Amino acid sequence: MSADCVFCRIVARQTPADIEYEDDQVLAFKDIYPKAPIHLLIIPKRHIESIARLTPEDTAVVGRCIQAARLLGEKTGYGERGYRVSCNVGPEGGQVVYHLHFHLTAGRRG
Ligand code: 5GP
Ligand code: ZN
Repeated sequence: MSADCVFCRIVARQTPADIEYEDDQVLAFKDIYPKAPIHLLIIPKRHIESIARLTPEDTAVVGRCIQAARLLGEKTGYGERGYRVSCNVGPEGGQVVYHLHFHLTAGRRG
């Protein structure tokens, strides 16, 4: 846990969030500023800064995040229609929060 990391604080229940999915390694919650009718953030509970900082030990949890995306795509009713899973990496990749997260957006074209 990184005390100054907003997503670690959500994992620790020190900052509120609308949690949509949780297991032993992964948490998913609604984005506070949704950019689509469905906008969830899927994160490893363990603090990993970004894709740019992944190590081989992180491989399994990244897979678990993508499996959670599939579950949430189905749960939100977009399993067949489709949805987007995206990840911003680094300053020029648009990353603002440096705790690895995958955006799941659905319900909007483009
Ligand atoms: P990034 O640009 O780093 O990929 O995206 C960070 C996302 O986190 C943004 O879409 C932003 O709206 C969201 N976000 C930032 N702070 C909070 C927060 O405290 N709670 C929630 N639920 N989302 C947040
Ligand atoms: Zn963190």
